[in-house]
Amino acid sequence: MGKNVTMDKIVNLCKGRGIIFAGSEIYGGMGNTWDYGPIGHEIKSNIKKQWWKTFVYQNRNTFGVDAAILMNPRVWEASGHTASFSDPKMDCKECKTRHRADNLIEDYAKKKGLDVNPDTMTDEQMSEFISENQIKCPICGKCNFTAIRQFNMMFETSRGVTEENQNKIYLRPETAQGEFVNFLNIQRSMRAKVPFGIAQIGKAFRNEITPGNFIFRTIEFEQMEHQLFCREDESGKFYDLYKQKAWDFLISIGFDENNLRFKDHDKLAHYAKSACDIQYLYPFGFSELNGIHNRGDHDLSRHEEFSGKSMLYVDPITNEKFIPNVVEYSIGADRLMLAVLCEAYNEEVLENGESRVVMKLSPKLSAYKVAVLPLQKNLSEKANEIYSQLSSHFYCDYDEAGSIGKRYRRHDEIGTPYCITIDFDTLEDGTVTLRDRDTMEQVRMTIDEVISFVSGKIS
Ligand SMILES: [Zn+2]
Repeated sequence: MGKNVTMDKIVNLCKGRGIIFAGSEIYGGMGNTWDYGPIGHEIKSNIKKQWWKTFVYQNRNTFGVDAAILMNPRVWEASGHTASFSDPKMDCKECKTRHRADNLIEDYAKKKGLDVNPDTMTDEQMSEFISENQIKCPICGKCNFTAIRQFNMMFETSRGVTEENQNKIYLRPETAQGEFVNFLNIQRSMRAKVPFGIAQIGKAFRNEITPGNFIFRTIEFEQMEHQLFCREDESGKFYDLYKQKAWDFLISIGFDENNLRFKDHDKLAHYAKSACDIQYLYPFGFSELNGIHNRGDHDLSRHEEFSGKSMLYVDPITNEKFIPNVVEYSIGADRLMLAVLCEAYNEEVLENGESRVVMKLSPKLSAYKVAVLPLQKNLSEKANEIYSQLSSHFYCDYDEAGSIGKRYRRHDEIGTPYCITIDFDTLEDGTVTLRDRDTMEQVRMTIDEVISFVSGKIS
Protein backbone atom coordinates (compact mmCIF):
# COMPACT_ATOMS: atom_id res chain seq x y z
CA MET A 1 0.00 0.00 0.00
CA GLY A 2 1.01 3.59 -0.48
CA LYS A 3 2.40 6.10 2.00
CA ASN A 4 0.35 7.06 5.10
CA VAL A 5 -2.80 5.35 3.84
CA THR A 6 -5.65 4.51 6.22
CA MET A 7 -9.13 3.21 5.47
CA ASP A 8 -10.68 6.48 6.71
CA LYS A 9 -8.57 8.53 4.33
CA ILE A 10 -9.52 6.29 1.40
CA VAL A 11 -13.25 6.43 2.25
CA ASN A 12 -13.17 10.23 2.63
CA LEU A 13 -11.20 10.81 -0.55
CA CYS A 14 -13.58 8.50 -2.45
CA LYS A 15 -16.62 10.43 -1.25
CA GLY A 16 -15.13 13.89 -1.81
CA ARG A 17 -13.72 13.18 -5.26
CA GLY A 18 -16.60 11.30 -6.90
CA ILE A 19 -15.03 7.86 -6.66
CA ILE A 20 -17.39 5.91 -4.35
CA PHE A 21 -20.42 6.98 -2.28
CA ALA A 22 -22.38 5.13 0.40
CA GLY A 23 -25.36 3.36 -1.22
CA SER A 24 -28.77 5.13 -0.86
CA GLU A 25 -27.01 7.78 1.23
CA ILE A 26 -29.90 10.29 1.47
CA TYR A 27 -31.96 7.56 3.17
CA GLY A 28 -29.26 6.93 5.73
CA GLY A 29 -27.47 4.40 3.57
CA MET A 30 -28.01 0.68 3.21
CA GLY A 31 -25.45 -1.45 5.02
CA ASN A 32 -22.67 -2.89 2.90
CA THR A 33 -23.76 -1.30 -0.39
CA TRP A 34 -21.75 1.32 -2.28
CA ASP A 35 -22.32 3.39 -5.43
CA TYR A 36 -19.49 4.15 -7.81
CA GLY A 37 -19.35 7.81 -8.85
CA PRO A 38 -18.08 9.21 -12.16
CA ILE A 39 -14.38 8.77 -11.33
CA GLY A 40 -14.74 5.43 -9.52
CA HIS A 41 -16.87 3.96 -12.27
CA GLU A 42 -14.15 4.78 -14.82
CA ILE A 43 -11.37 3.30 -12.69
CA LYS A 44 -13.33 0.11 -12.03
CA SER A 45 -14.29 -0.16 -15.67
CA ASN A 46 -10.61 0.20 -16.65
CA ILE A 47 -9.67 -2.52 -14.14
CA LYS A 48 -12.22 -4.84 -15.78
CA LYS A 49 -10.99 -3.95 -19.28
CA GLN A 50 -7.37 -4.70 -18.34
CA TRP A 51 -8.42 -8.01 -16.79
CA TRP A 52 -10.46 -9.00 -19.86
CA LYS A 53 -7.64 -7.99 -22.17
CA THR A 54 -5.17 -10.12 -20.20
CA PHE A 55 -7.32 -13.19 -19.61
CA VAL A 56 -9.39 -13.29 -22.81
CA TYR A 57 -7.78 -11.33 -25.65
CA GLN A 58 -4.18 -12.23 -24.75
CA ASN A 59 -4.99 -15.71 -23.45
CA ARG A 60 -5.50 -17.99 -26.42
CA ASN A 61 -8.32 -20.53 -26.22
CA THR A 62 -10.33 -18.54 -23.72
CA PHE A 63 -13.96 -17.71 -24.46
CA GLY A 64 -16.06 -15.03 -22.78
CA VAL A 65 -19.59 -15.57 -21.52
CA ASP A 66 -22.25 -13.38 -19.89
CA ALA A 67 -24.64 -15.75 -18.12
CA ALA A 68 -27.93 -14.90 -16.40
CA ILE A 69 -27.88 -13.89 -12.74
CA LEU A 70 -31.04 -15.90 -12.08
CA MET A 71 -30.50 -19.61 -12.62
CA ASN A 72 -32.54 -22.78 -12.26
CA PRO A 73 -32.56 -23.51 -8.48
CA ARG A 74 -31.28 -27.03 -9.20
CA VAL A 75 -27.93 -25.40 -10.10
CA TRP A 76 -27.47 -24.43 -6.46
CA GLU A 77 -28.33 -27.93 -5.29
CA ALA A 78 -25.66 -29.30 -7.62
CA SER A 79 -23.11 -26.71 -6.51
CA GLY A 80 -23.80 -27.40 -2.85
CA HIS A 81 -24.88 -23.83 -2.07
CA THR A 82 -28.43 -24.77 -1.01
CA ALA A 83 -27.16 -27.25 1.57
CA SER A 84 -24.01 -25.64 2.90
CA PHE A 85 -23.35 -22.06 1.78
CA SER A 86 -23.61 -20.64 5.24
CA ASP A 87 -21.76 -18.63 7.85
CA PRO A 88 -21.52 -19.41 11.56
CA LYS A 89 -23.60 -16.64 13.13
CA MET A 90 -24.42 -15.85 16.74
CA ASP A 91 -26.31 -13.06 18.48
CA CYS A 92 -25.02 -10.90 21.31
CA LYS A 93 -27.57 -11.39 24.08
CA GLU A 94 -26.72 -7.97 25.56
CA CYS A 95 -27.05 -5.61 22.58
CA LYS A 96 -28.93 -7.93 20.16
CA THR A 97 -26.45 -7.54 17.31
CA ARG A 98 -25.49 -10.47 15.08
CA HIS A 99 -21.91 -11.51 14.45
CA ARG A 100 -19.87 -14.07 12.56
CA ALA A 101 -18.09 -16.32 15.04
CA ASP A 102 -15.21 -17.03 12.64
CA ASN A 103 -14.54 -13.32 12.11
CA LEU A 104 -14.49 -12.57 15.84
CA ILE A 105 -11.95 -15.38 16.32
CA GLU A 106 -9.84 -14.20 13.37
CA ASP A 107 -9.72 -10.63 14.68
CA TYR A 108 -8.85 -11.82 18.17
CA ALA A 109 -6.11 -14.13 16.88
CA LYS A 110 -4.64 -11.33 14.75
CA LYS A 111 -4.56 -8.95 17.72
CA LYS A 112 -2.94 -11.51 20.03
CA GLY A 113 -0.63 -12.92 17.38
CA LEU A 114 -2.15 -16.41 17.79
CA ASP A 115 -2.02 -19.06 15.10
CA VAL A 116 -5.70 -20.02 15.12
CA ASN A 117 -7.77 -20.75 12.03
CA PRO A 118 -11.57 -20.82 12.56
CA ASP A 119 -12.01 -22.44 9.11
CA THR A 120 -10.72 -25.66 10.60
CA MET A 121 -12.98 -25.51 13.70
CA THR A 122 -16.46 -26.94 14.28
CA ASP A 123 -19.25 -24.69 15.62
CA GLU A 124 -18.75 -26.17 19.09
CA GLN A 125 -15.00 -25.57 19.00
CA MET A 126 -15.58 -21.95 17.97
CA SER A 127 -18.12 -21.42 20.77
CA GLU A 128 -15.69 -22.88 23.28
CA PHE A 129 -12.79 -20.76 22.02
CA ILE A 130 -14.88 -17.59 22.27
CA SER A 131 -16.00 -18.21 25.84
CA GLU A 132 -12.60 -19.51 27.03
CA ASN A 133 -10.86 -16.41 25.71
CA GLN A 134 -13.74 -14.12 26.70
CA ILE A 135 -13.81 -12.60 23.20
CA LYS A 136 -15.98 -9.51 23.41
CA CYS A 137 -18.86 -8.22 21.30
CA PRO A 138 -17.35 -5.46 19.11
CA ILE A 139 -20.48 -3.35 19.64
CA CYS A 140 -21.08 -3.45 23.40
CA GLY A 141 -17.92 -5.07 24.79
CA LYS A 142 -19.68 -7.89 26.67
CA CYS A 143 -19.12 -11.60 26.14
CA ASN A 144 -22.58 -13.16 26.21
CA PHE A 145 -23.50 -14.84 22.94
CA THR A 146 -26.16 -17.31 21.81
CA ALA A 147 -25.09 -20.67 20.41
CA ILE A 148 -23.72 -20.60 16.85
CA ARG A 149 -26.19 -21.25 14.04
CA GLN A 150 -25.52 -21.59 10.32
CA PHE A 151 -27.36 -19.09 8.07
CA ASN A 152 -27.52 -19.60 4.31
CA MET A 153 -26.03 -16.59 2.55
CA MET A 154 -27.96 -16.78 -0.73
CA PHE A 155 -30.44 -13.97 -1.40
CA GLU A 156 -33.83 -15.46 -2.09
CA THR A 157 -36.47 -14.03 -4.33
CA SER A 158 -39.47 -15.54 -6.05
CA ARG A 159 -40.95 -15.65 -9.52
CA GLY A 160 -44.61 -15.82 -10.38
CA VAL A 161 -47.33 -13.23 -9.98
CA THR A 162 -49.79 -14.93 -7.66
CA GLU A 163 -48.86 -16.06 -4.20
CA GLU A 164 -49.90 -19.67 -4.75
CA ASN A 165 -47.78 -19.81 -7.84
CA GLN A 166 -44.49 -18.69 -6.37
CA ASN A 167 -41.23 -20.46 -6.85
CA LYS A 168 -38.24 -19.67 -4.74
CA ILE A 169 -35.19 -18.66 -6.77
CA TYR A 170 -31.86 -17.14 -5.81
CA LEU A 171 -29.63 -14.29 -6.86
CA ARG A 172 -26.43 -16.10 -7.85
CA PRO A 173 -23.85 -16.15 -5.02
CA GLU A 174 -21.03 -16.71 -7.53
CA THR A 175 -20.60 -16.37 -11.28
CA ALA A 176 -18.73 -19.67 -11.77
CA GLN A 177 -21.84 -21.81 -12.27
CA GLY A 178 -22.67 -19.81 -15.41
CA GLU A 179 -19.41 -21.07 -16.91
CA PHE A 180 -19.95 -24.68 -15.78
CA VAL A 181 -23.52 -25.04 -17.10
CA ASN A 182 -22.39 -23.63 -20.47
CA PHE A 183 -19.36 -25.88 -20.75
CA LEU A 184 -20.80 -28.05 -23.54
CA ASN A 185 -22.53 -25.15 -25.35
CA ILE A 186 -19.25 -23.31 -25.61
CA GLN A 187 -17.13 -26.36 -26.33
CA ARG A 188 -19.38 -27.39 -29.25
CA SER A 189 -20.32 -23.97 -30.69
CA MET A 190 -16.77 -22.65 -30.56
CA ARG A 191 -15.20 -26.01 -31.56
CA ALA A 192 -13.04 -25.72 -28.45
CA LYS A 193 -10.45 -28.34 -27.59
CA VAL A 194 -9.35 -29.12 -24.05
CA PRO A 195 -7.45 -27.34 -22.57
CA PHE A 196 -9.58 -24.19 -22.97
CA GLY A 197 -10.93 -21.48 -20.70
CA ILE A 198 -14.22 -19.71 -20.10
CA ALA A 199 -14.11 -16.22 -18.59
CA GLN A 200 -16.87 -14.10 -17.15
CA ILE A 201 -17.27 -10.76 -15.38
CA GLY A 202 -20.55 -10.35 -13.57
CA LYS A 203 -22.44 -9.50 -10.42
CA ALA A 204 -22.93 -11.90 -7.54
CA PHE A 205 -24.82 -11.48 -4.27
CA ARG A 206 -24.17 -12.71 -0.74
CA ASN A 207 -26.25 -12.00 2.31
CA GLU A 208 -23.29 -11.03 4.49
CA ILE A 209 -24.03 -9.63 7.90
CA THR A 210 -20.54 -8.54 8.87
CA PRO A 211 -19.76 -4.95 7.88
CA GLY A 212 -16.95 -5.38 5.48
CA ASN A 213 -14.21 -2.72 5.50
CA PHE A 214 -15.66 -0.41 2.82
CA ILE A 215 -15.80 -2.28 -0.53
CA PHE A 216 -13.68 -5.23 0.72
CA ARG A 217 -16.75 -7.31 1.51
CA THR A 218 -20.14 -6.22 0.18
CA ILE A 219 -23.49 -7.91 -0.29
CA GLU A 220 -23.49 -7.13 -4.04
CA PHE A 221 -20.21 -7.39 -5.89
CA GLU A 222 -18.63 -8.10 -9.21
CA GLN A 223 -16.52 -11.17 -9.89
CA MET A 224 -13.96 -11.71 -12.61
CA GLU A 225 -13.42 -15.41 -13.17
CA HIS A 226 -11.52 -17.71 -15.45
CA GLN A 227 -12.28 -21.45 -15.48
CA LEU A 228 -9.72 -23.59 -17.27
CA PHE A 229 -10.97 -27.01 -18.44
CA CYS A 230 -8.19 -29.55 -18.82
CA ARG A 231 -7.12 -33.20 -18.53
CA GLU A 232 -6.59 -34.44 -15.03
CA ASP A 233 -2.88 -35.10 -15.53
CA GLU A 234 -2.37 -31.49 -16.64
CA SER A 235 -4.33 -29.79 -13.87
CA GLY A 236 -1.28 -29.35 -11.61
CA LYS A 237 0.62 -27.65 -14.40
CA PHE A 238 -2.26 -25.27 -15.12
CA TYR A 239 -2.76 -24.54 -11.43
CA ASP A 240 0.86 -23.34 -11.24
CA LEU A 241 0.49 -21.44 -14.52
CA TYR A 242 -2.60 -19.53 -13.33
CA LYS A 243 -0.96 -18.70 -10.02
CA GLN A 244 1.76 -17.04 -12.07
CA LYS A 245 -0.66 -15.33 -14.47
CA ALA A 246 -2.72 -13.97 -11.57
CA TRP A 247 0.44 -12.60 -9.95
CA ASP A 248 1.78 -11.09 -13.20
CA PHE A 249 -1.55 -9.38 -13.86
CA LEU A 250 -1.37 -7.57 -10.51
CA ILE A 251 2.19 -6.43 -11.19
CA SER A 252 1.14 -5.22 -14.67
CA ILE A 253 -1.48 -2.86 -13.22
CA GLY A 254 0.92 -1.27 -10.76
CA PHE A 255 1.23 -3.41 -7.61
CA ASP A 256 4.49 -3.59 -5.68
CA GLU A 257 5.32 -7.28 -5.21
CA ASN A 258 6.28 -6.58 -1.59
CA ASN A 259 2.60 -5.87 -0.85
CA LEU A 260 1.46 -9.23 -2.23
CA ARG A 261 1.91 -12.80 -1.07
CA PHE A 262 0.63 -16.31 -1.77
CA LYS A 263 -1.24 -18.10 0.99
CA ASP A 264 -2.22 -21.76 0.66
CA HIS A 265 -5.64 -22.66 2.05
CA ASP A 266 -5.43 -24.44 5.41
CA LYS A 267 -8.63 -26.36 4.83
CA LEU A 268 -9.43 -27.78 1.39
CA ALA A 269 -12.90 -28.66 0.16
CA HIS A 270 -13.18 -32.47 -0.07
CA TYR A 271 -12.94 -32.43 -3.88
CA ALA A 272 -10.15 -29.84 -4.21
CA LYS A 273 -6.61 -30.89 -4.99
CA SER A 274 -5.05 -27.55 -4.10
CA ALA A 275 -6.15 -23.99 -3.42
CA CYS A 276 -4.43 -20.73 -2.58
CA ASP A 277 -5.07 -17.02 -2.37
CA ILE A 278 -3.00 -14.06 -3.33
CA GLN A 279 -3.22 -11.73 -0.37
CA TYR A 280 -2.69 -7.96 -0.42
CA LEU A 281 -1.42 -5.75 2.37
CA TYR A 282 -4.51 -3.56 3.03
CA PRO A 283 -4.40 -0.88 5.75
CA PHE A 284 -6.05 -3.52 8.01
CA GLY A 285 -3.38 -6.13 7.25
CA PHE A 286 -2.76 -8.90 4.72
CA SER A 287 -6.06 -10.28 3.46
CA GLU A 288 -7.50 -12.11 0.48
CA LEU A 289 -7.40 -10.50 -2.95
CA ASN A 290 -7.97 -13.45 -5.27
CA GLY A 291 -8.15 -17.24 -5.25
CA ILE A 292 -6.79 -20.01 -7.48
CA HIS A 293 -8.29 -23.48 -7.05
CA ASN A 294 -7.63 -26.87 -8.59
CA ARG A 295 -11.15 -28.28 -8.32
CA GLY A 296 -10.77 -31.69 -9.97
CA ASP A 297 -13.81 -32.84 -11.98
CA HIS A 298 -16.18 -32.00 -9.11
CA ASP A 299 -18.15 -29.20 -10.80
CA LEU A 300 -18.92 -30.90 -14.09
CA SER A 301 -19.56 -34.28 -12.38
CA ARG A 302 -22.09 -32.69 -10.03
CA HIS A 303 -23.88 -31.03 -12.95
CA GLU A 304 -23.94 -34.34 -14.78
CA GLU A 305 -25.46 -35.99 -11.70
CA PHE A 306 -28.10 -33.30 -11.03
CA SER A 307 -29.06 -32.45 -14.63
CA GLY A 308 -28.89 -35.98 -16.01
CA LYS A 309 -26.94 -34.61 -18.99
CA SER A 310 -23.62 -36.16 -19.90
CA MET A 311 -20.68 -33.81 -19.39
CA LEU A 312 -18.25 -36.09 -21.19
CA TYR A 313 -15.72 -34.50 -23.46
CA VAL A 314 -14.54 -36.56 -26.42
CA ASP A 315 -10.94 -36.02 -27.41
CA PRO A 316 -10.99 -35.50 -31.23
CA ILE A 317 -7.64 -37.25 -31.74
CA THR A 318 -7.66 -40.17 -29.30
CA ASN A 319 -11.47 -40.51 -29.00
CA GLU A 320 -10.93 -40.79 -25.27
CA LYS A 321 -13.99 -39.73 -23.21
CA PHE A 322 -13.58 -37.94 -19.91
CA ILE A 323 -14.99 -35.22 -17.65
CA PRO A 324 -12.46 -32.37 -17.66
CA ASN A 325 -10.85 -31.03 -14.51
CA VAL A 326 -11.27 -27.36 -13.63
CA VAL A 327 -8.65 -24.86 -12.51
CA GLU A 328 -10.46 -21.77 -11.28
CA TYR A 329 -9.04 -18.28 -10.90
CA SER A 330 -11.38 -15.79 -9.31
CA ILE A 331 -10.94 -12.15 -8.30
CA GLY A 332 -13.48 -9.59 -7.05
CA ALA A 333 -13.50 -6.39 -9.12
CA ASP A 334 -14.55 -4.32 -6.09
CA ARG A 335 -11.96 -5.86 -3.79
CA LEU A 336 -9.31 -5.29 -6.46
CA MET A 337 -10.55 -1.69 -6.76
CA LEU A 338 -9.95 -1.23 -3.02
CA ALA A 339 -6.46 -2.71 -3.30
CA VAL A 340 -5.71 -0.50 -6.32
CA LEU A 341 -6.80 2.62 -4.40
CA CYS A 342 -4.77 1.67 -1.31
CA GLU A 343 -1.72 0.91 -3.44
CA ALA A 344 -1.97 4.22 -5.31
CA TYR A 345 -2.61 6.53 -2.33
CA ASN A 346 0.39 8.61 -1.30
CA GLU A 347 0.91 11.66 0.87
CA GLU A 348 3.95 13.70 -0.06
CA VAL A 349 5.68 16.76 1.32
CA LEU A 350 6.78 19.01 -1.52
CA GLU A 351 9.97 21.07 -1.76
CA ASN A 352 8.10 24.26 -0.83
CA GLY A 353 6.90 22.61 2.40
CA GLU A 354 3.33 22.08 1.21
CA SER A 355 1.90 18.60 1.19
CA ARG A 356 -0.20 16.82 -1.40
CA VAL A 357 -2.26 13.66 -1.72
CA VAL A 358 -1.51 11.89 -4.97
CA MET A 359 -3.07 8.73 -6.37
CA LYS A 360 -0.26 7.09 -8.30
CA LEU A 361 -2.59 4.99 -10.42
CA SER A 362 -1.27 3.22 -13.47
CA PRO A 363 -2.27 5.43 -16.46
CA LYS A 364 -4.08 2.33 -17.78
CA LEU A 365 -6.45 2.52 -14.80
CA SER A 366 -6.87 6.25 -14.18
CA ALA A 367 -10.25 7.78 -15.01
CA TYR A 368 -9.05 10.78 -17.03
CA LYS A 369 -5.84 10.32 -18.97
CA VAL A 370 -5.34 14.04 -19.55
CA ALA A 371 -6.73 17.21 -17.96
CA VAL A 372 -6.84 20.27 -20.20
CA LEU A 373 -6.20 23.41 -18.15
CA PRO A 374 -6.21 26.88 -19.77
CA LEU A 375 -4.03 29.26 -17.72
CA GLN A 376 -6.51 32.09 -18.23
CA LYS A 377 -10.18 32.33 -19.15
CA ASN A 378 -9.46 34.16 -22.39
CA LEU A 379 -7.59 31.11 -23.64
CA SER A 380 -10.68 28.93 -23.42
CA GLU A 381 -11.45 28.91 -27.13
CA LYS A 382 -8.08 27.36 -27.99
CA ALA A 383 -8.29 25.08 -24.91
CA ASN A 384 -11.73 23.80 -25.97
CA GLU A 385 -10.42 23.05 -29.42
CA ILE A 386 -7.55 21.02 -27.93
CA TYR A 387 -9.93 19.27 -25.54
CA SER A 388 -12.13 18.16 -28.46
CA GLN A 389 -9.12 16.93 -30.37
CA LEU A 390 -7.76 14.90 -27.43
CA SER A 391 -11.19 13.54 -26.47
CA SER A 392 -11.37 11.48 -29.61
CA HIS A 393 -8.28 9.58 -28.37
CA PHE A 394 -8.88 9.22 -24.63
CA TYR A 395 -11.08 10.38 -21.77
CA CYS A 396 -10.10 13.93 -20.80
CA ASP A 397 -11.25 16.53 -18.30
CA TYR A 398 -11.59 20.23 -19.01
CA ASP A 399 -11.11 22.52 -16.04
CA GLU A 400 -10.72 26.29 -16.00
CA ALA A 401 -11.96 27.04 -12.47
CA GLY A 402 -9.60 28.14 -9.69
CA SER A 403 -5.86 28.59 -9.43
CA ILE A 404 -3.63 26.29 -11.45
CA GLY A 405 -2.20 24.87 -8.19
CA LYS A 406 -5.66 23.85 -6.97
CA ARG A 407 -6.49 22.28 -10.31
CA TYR A 408 -3.26 20.23 -10.20
CA ARG A 409 -4.07 19.07 -6.62
CA ARG A 410 -7.55 17.95 -7.62
CA HIS A 411 -6.20 15.89 -10.51
CA ASP A 412 -3.39 14.48 -8.33
CA GLU A 413 -6.07 13.26 -5.91
CA ILE A 414 -8.02 11.36 -8.56
CA GLY A 415 -4.88 10.07 -10.24
CA THR A 416 -4.98 11.91 -13.59
CA PRO A 417 -1.51 11.08 -14.91
CA TYR A 418 -1.06 14.13 -17.17
CA CYS A 419 -2.23 17.74 -17.04
CA ILE A 420 -1.62 20.04 -19.96
CA THR A 421 -1.72 23.81 -19.64
CA ILE A 422 -2.69 26.14 -22.46
CA ASP A 423 -0.93 29.53 -22.47
CA PHE A 424 -0.32 32.40 -24.89
CA ASP A 425 2.57 30.55 -26.55
CA THR A 426 0.03 27.85 -27.47
CA LEU A 427 -1.74 30.42 -29.67
CA GLU A 428 1.57 31.21 -31.37
CA ASP A 429 3.23 27.81 -31.90
CA GLY A 430 0.58 25.21 -30.93
CA THR A 431 2.66 23.73 -28.10
CA VAL A 432 1.38 23.01 -24.59
CA THR A 433 3.05 22.20 -21.26
CA LEU A 434 2.55 18.61 -20.14
CA ARG A 435 2.95 17.97 -16.40
CA ASP A 436 3.70 14.49 -15.08
CA ARG A 437 1.61 13.68 -11.98
CA ASP A 438 4.31 11.70 -10.16
CA THR A 439 7.47 13.68 -10.92
CA MET A 440 5.67 17.02 -11.44
CA GLU A 441 8.16 17.66 -14.24
CA GLN A 442 6.89 19.79 -17.11
CA VAL A 443 7.70 19.32 -20.77
CA ARG A 444 6.75 21.44 -23.76
CA MET A 445 5.24 19.50 -26.70
CA THR A 446 2.81 19.71 -29.60
CA ILE A 447 -0.69 18.16 -29.45
CA ASP A 448 0.36 15.37 -31.79
CA GLU A 449 3.25 14.61 -29.46
CA VAL A 450 0.85 14.60 -26.47
CA ILE A 451 -1.38 12.09 -28.27
CA SER A 452 1.42 9.66 -29.11
CA PHE A 453 3.11 10.08 -25.70
CA VAL A 454 -0.08 9.41 -23.70
CA SER A 455 -1.20 6.61 -26.04
CA GLY A 456 2.13 4.90 -25.40
CA LYS A 457 1.58 5.07 -21.66
CA ILE A 458 -1.87 3.51 -21.70
CA SER A 459 -1.45 0.76 -24.27
ZN1 LIG B 1 -23.13 -6.76 22.13
